[in-house]
Amino acid sequence: TKVAHWFRPKDLRIHDNTALHHASTLARDSNAPLICIYQHCPAEESWHGTSPARTDFMLEALKLMQEELGELNVPLVFLHAEERDDIVPSVVEFLKEEEISHVFANFEYEVDELRRDTKFVEEVGDKAKVSMYHDQTVVEPGTVTTGAGTPMKVFTPYHRAWLALVKESPELLNTVPAPTKNSAQAKKELKHLFNSALPTPGKDKNFANEEDRKRIRSLWPAGHAAGVKRLATFLTDNIADYAATRSNPAKDSTSRLSAYFSSGQLSIREALSTLQSKCNDSSPDFSEKGSAPGVYAWVRELVFRELYRQTTVSTPHVSMNLPTNLKFDFVRWEDDKEGWEKWVEGRTGEPFVDAGMRQLRCEGWMHNRLRMNVSSYLYCNLLLDYRRGERFFAETLVDWDLSNNTQGWEPSYTVFNPVSQAERNDPEGEYIRKWVPELKDVQGKAVFAPYARLSKEEFEKLGYPRPHVDWKETKQRAVERFKSDMKDA
Ligand code: FAD
Repeated sequence: TKVAHWFRPKDLRIHDNTALHHASTLARDSNAPLICIYQHCPAEESWHGTSPARTDFMLEALKLMQEELGELNVPLVFLHAEERDDIVPSVVEFLKEEEISHVFANFEYEVDELRRDTKFVEEVGDKAKVSMYHDQTVVEPGTVTTGAGTPMKVFTPYHRAWLALVKESPELLNTVPAPTKNSAQAKKELKHLFNSALPTPGKDKNFANEEDRKRIRSLWPAGHAAGVKRLATFLTDNIADYAATRSNPAKDSTSRLSAYFSSGQLSIREALSTLQSKCNDSSPDFSEKGSAPGVYAWVRELVFRELYRQTTVSTPHVSMNLPTNLKFDFVRWEDDKEGWEKWVEGRTGEPFVDAGMRQLRCEGWMHNRLRMNVSSYLYCNLLLDYRRGERFFAETLVDWDLSNNTQGWEPSYTVFNPVSQAERNDPEGEYIRKWVPELKDVQGKAVFAPYARLSKEEFEKLGYPRPHVDWKETKQRAVERFKSDMKDA
């Protein structure tokens, strides 16, 4: 008999990987060889819109994993499926060919992925055993429930319950070791499976040029070790001030770990247990009273991430292109073609919005404060369907994550004012000047609203666009449109 672990795009690591650990334990205890597989499907990536930055980041991680596993005499085999419907048959076929009797994997919570796994279990039938594990979160989705026993959806009570649960059950943060080595005999038996060629990105998943590849790779070095190093630097240099500085994009003081978490190159358990060991407490207390302000604030963000996974499970329509609040599906959106192009290119004439969009295009990443602002501008001020922005994020971000992205883009009545937002969060205008070089010499508060605050001549010299829309008028239009369209929904 042989045992297999099937890696998915969200668990790309061999350290603290729940299903892989169970697969390895079974292989060791039954003296069976362990095989790892990864299914590559370009059509799947196109379906999700996965960006070139993210595709490359994941393929680089897989390359490193193949080396690490190779040292443990474990092959990582890349299977190829041209179409999404070919994924299950290709894995089933491989299991049959290799006479694998037990396959392990971690859950993915999106509807299509759950359907794929259901189909997989059906098609495998009694040819092999399938074991699935929860691995993406500290607290399993569905665990934190309301008094009525339904999964909690509101953040504040969820956060409170999550903190209490983790404090009571410190074992939730326990990590598991990397797999044990296959024997030399097993290595011989599996000889034909080593050196499986790394998949190549689909046609639309290549970088536009070599320069982009270099820049993105240096910003986001792939692999578990790179994630661990980034975590260590963040915990040493930034977490103490995180509560005070996290909303200031010029400080750039957040962890920039999202790409590692969303592809599973670093586990949340490992991040939190490392943090806890630094805090030196006997039990993990990440409450406001029990921890330093920076620790409290950072863990709170991770709890948002946990809740959003629970929401993906409890509100499956979020992964079917629908808002959590279904009433927003009744809004009649506009089709401002020029507005869309200006938003994408960072030329709306709103400096804070443009700075965010330009950072996104350059780095494959955008600071959270800007994500909130550019999204609000798109669906409130331009009144464009928020789903277009959500898709553009998927096609551009290195850290794309369906749960965080759909919940981040969830429409609401709050219309962000990019001028006051910039004044509050980028008080020196440093972030704007960095990303919008046309404004780098604009002094004082004019940088936040150059068209309104400079003379006509001064403004025209900048070569920076005038605001595409009037913020006040479009705010009013959005609020009225939302109200009227959702009235009878
Ligand atoms: P840190 O501030 O260091 O936070 C630590 C971790 O907590 C993050 O890595 C992330 O895993 C989690 N986290 C932080 N903020 C949030 C949040 N608001 N919601 C959920 N989890 C959070 N995050 C993604 O990972 N992928 C996305 O595709 C994504 N799309 C977004 C779209 C919009 C419109 C908005 C408003 C937010 C989106 N976010 C997304 C959440 C957030 O902006 C990023 O997680 C964060 O900016 C990543 O930077 P960081 O790792 O330095 O975060």
